[in-house]
Amino acid sequence: MTATILDGRAIGAEIKSELRVDIEKYVHERGRPPGLVIVRVGGDAASGVYSKAILRVAEDIGVEARLDQFPTRISPDELRAILMQLNRDAAVQGIIVQMPLPGHISQKMVADIISSSKDIDGISPRSAGDLFLGLPGFLPATVASVMEILERTQAPLEGKRAVIISRSNIVGKPLAMMLLQKNATVTVSHSHTVDLAGFTRQADVLVTAVGRANMITADMVRPGAIVIDVGINELPGGGIVGDVDFTPVSEVAGAITPTPGGVGPLTNILLLKQCVRAASQQLQDEERMLGKVSLS
Ligand code: NAP
Repeated sequence: MTATILDGRAIGAEIKSELRVDIEKYVHERGRPPGLVIVRVGGDAASGVYSKAILRVAEDIGVEARLDQFPTRISPDELRAILMQLNRDAAVQGIIVQMPLPGHISQKMVADIISSSKDIDGISPRSAGDLFLGLPGFLPATVASVMEILERTQAPLEGKRAVIISRSNIVGKPLAMMLLQKNATVTVSHSHTVDLAGFTRQADVLVTAVGRANMITADMVRPGAIVIDVGINELPGGGIVGDVDFTPVSEVAGAITPTPGGVGPLTNILLLKQCVRAASQQLQDEERMLGKVSLS
């Protein structure tokens, strides 16, 4: 068997075209594009690269995005005040705070402050709680990307066995909630799981987000399974691979994401998709409020 390649770049291009239409509609109604602010504290190199990549996608589709950069020495109180100001700013529909934060600033404080209506990266306890309760809300972008791949390729999930290798807050746990909502039977595995291959061999849908190059070998995969590889691993000699030993596994799987070119290219696009969704929800909320005011 040779697996169907689940091409993240092609899916990304499709989503961007849809977003351009949604943004045009928003601009028509609102008179300006949705606004996004990326807050970055300090000089972490990787977060600088992510920020630039998000700004590029935003510009490409027509979201008005900016990077607010602050020095490492900013105090927690100053950052709190800045985030509260962004929460109130009617021109800002989505807020992303880049991680890592300097040691003296608590990630929990930041997650608690961001308004859940602008939390397009799904980091707030409110967003996590909504997800747990099956209420609509914003997902961590990686999870939104995995779900988008599964939905756009019409992968059957109902009654299927899904195995996730990760219990991280940004991938494994929220993804488990989403797959449960789709009526899959979900197993969450991690570094203490005994006989990992025994679980993965039963998976109709296998998602791995570990960060260990080529750890999923062909004998660990059920013939015909859908394999989604979230892992990103830099090779010592250069180049990037996922957690899945791609070539042999693609001989066994029914469908598979490549690395690079699978989940990775979608993450920023899904962040922007959630920003556009936040913008239209805020607009609807405002219209509802105005409706109420004019009735009274
Ligand atoms: P993380 O917080 O370190 O989580 C890794 C998970 O893998 C943990 O649940 C860990 O188990 C589990 N694990 C580690 N070794 C294992 C083993 N031998 N067998 C089974 N499970 C094992 O990492 P993360 O931030 O979620 O990122 C994971 C990977 O995804 C990284 O490669 C990262 O670069 C990539 N990533 C990609 C994207 C994207 O856009 N494509 C986005 C985010 C992350 P324990 O909980 O027991 O430690």
